Amino acid sequence: MADSFDVIVIGGGPAGYPAAIRAGQNKLTVACIDEWRNRDGTYAFGGTCLNAGCIPSKALLESTELYHRAREEFALHGIKTSGVSVDVAQMQKRKAGIVKTSTQGILALFKGAGVTPLQGHGKLLPGRRVEYTAADGTKRELTAAHVILASGSVPLELKCAPFQAPHIIDSQGALELDSAPKRLGVIGAGVIGLELGSVWRRLGSEVTVLEALPDFLAIADQQLAKEAARHFKKQGLDIRLGARVTGARVAGDAVEVAYEDAAGAHGLTVDRLIVAVGRRPYTKDLLAEGTGIELDERGFIKVDQQCRTAVEGIWAVGDCVRGPMLAHKGKEEGVMAADLIAGHFGEVNYKTVPAVIYTAPEIAWVGQTEEQVKASGRPYKVGVFPFLANGRARAMEQAQGFAKILAARDDDEILGVHIVGPMAGELIAEAVLAMEYSASTEDLQRTIHAHPTLSESLHEAALAADKRAIDSLNR
Ligand code: FAD
Ligand code: AMP
Repeated sequence: MADSFDVIVIGGGPAGYPAAIRAGQNKLTVACIDEWRNRDGTYAFGGTCLNAGCIPSKALLESTELYHRAREEFALHGIKTSGVSVDVAQMQKRKAGIVKTSTQGILALFKGAGVTPLQGHGKLLPGRRVEYTAADGTKRELTAAHVILASGSVPLELKCAPFQAPHIIDSQGALELDSAPKRLGVIGAGVIGLELGSVWRRLGSEVTVLEALPDFLAIADQQLAKEAARHFKKQGLDIRLGARVTGARVAGDAVEVAYEDAAGAHGLTVDRLIVAVGRRPYTKDLLAEGTGIELDERGFIKVDQQCRTAVEGIWAVGDCVRGPMLAHKGKEEGVMAADLIAGHFGEVNYKTVPAVIYTAPEIAWVGQTEEQVKASGRPYKVGVFPFLANGRARAMEQAQGFAKILAARDDDEILGVHIVGPMAGELIAEAVLAMEYSASTEDLQRTIHAHPTLSESLHEAALAADKRAIDSLNR
């Protein structure tokens, strides 16, 4: 194996592995070092996303949603079932199979793009040198013209509720439960807390979510958040807002949780407690003395708009740098860095990074919320279209929620799109593309959408912005 590469990527998650593949496509010699190990000790590329994040969570969300539908919706379709029951072990086995296929797929992609996979630890040394420590502990010094740091993030731990498996667990532990706890507590009503809370609620857990902030989904458009909250409540998720957890301790086979809200101090007893209060950048043993790489006050590696650090030839991408902690954001940053290194054009449009929460109904948005548009002072118009008026959604027995478009009054530019409803995460792609091309609502209004499709809701929302929706009353 060579000791010198054009590019070395440290971290093989959804930011690092695409960077390596694109560097290979750009005819650069490239190695990708990754240290992720499964519980059984085996190495696996793919980082948090493939091993303990996006993919396993979506696998369980899909399985549990099907179970829920079989029990609650099939009868409406005239499908008679009896004795529908759940086999959590099989659900987990299916999930593990999907993860394995995906992570092994990366090795095949690396082979195709000429990337050298190196499983073990990478440490940046001064002078664009990298120390690689293999599984057996042997160390080698590698050099590169460019190094891309993509070391990712890890779950935040609360001092007042330290992890204590199997009772007080992080998101990875919550994806690996072998049965639905009778009483499940979740700290944090963010994306991860809501998705994991939904999985176990559908399997029968009594789920209580404690959220410190007074507003539900404070980062989202508040009309969207209110609609989503209504559905979660109906599903039996007990979401307590303004509830700040102050302590948690394991007592026997249960967890005693203490929290405070406006009314005072409270206690809650659960069988398992998921701590889902966010993630922090991970840079442990990544940077040797004297590399010149700077971290900000929250521990993120400092970079410019194009993911360059202050040190020539060293780049950083994904969850270890500023911006939303999302796999697709990291992927685009990795690809941008690899293209810029090769002298090609590269850019990430941070204004059009979509956000998706894969609950039922799904929640997705891109661009500004109504609160942000209002605060900007720019005159705007709003178009809202309910899925209740969408034929496909009704046929799917999924006629919940709405699509909402915010556009500028002056030049009709689309400023934000917010969807809560069936397949919102898929539908948002059209809005992202529209915003990427600086489309107006008129552009969307004049675009033919197949009938009957869920995407007609976005079309109708665009029409509603000018009070010209056909399938709703334009109130
Ligand atoms: P990571 O995926 O964390 O990968 C970093 C990799 O680098 C790891 O393999 C790590 O072991 C390795 N590494 C670190 N330091 C070193 C070193 N010194 N040497 C060698 N290797 C090193 N995002 C979405 O967009 N959509 C979702 O649906 C979604 N769902 C999620 C669900 C859950 C439960 C969780 C926890 C996260 C979810 N996310 C989702 C977030 C997403 O997983 C992250 O944004 C994404 O994984 C970040 O990618 P990354 O490559 O920057 O870092
Ligand atoms: P996210 O960053 O989207 O994963 O969301 C994490 C959520 O956890 C945020 O909404 C925080 O307000 C919430 N949170 C953080 N600390 C606490 C705490 N001690 N008690 C309750 N909620 C918390």
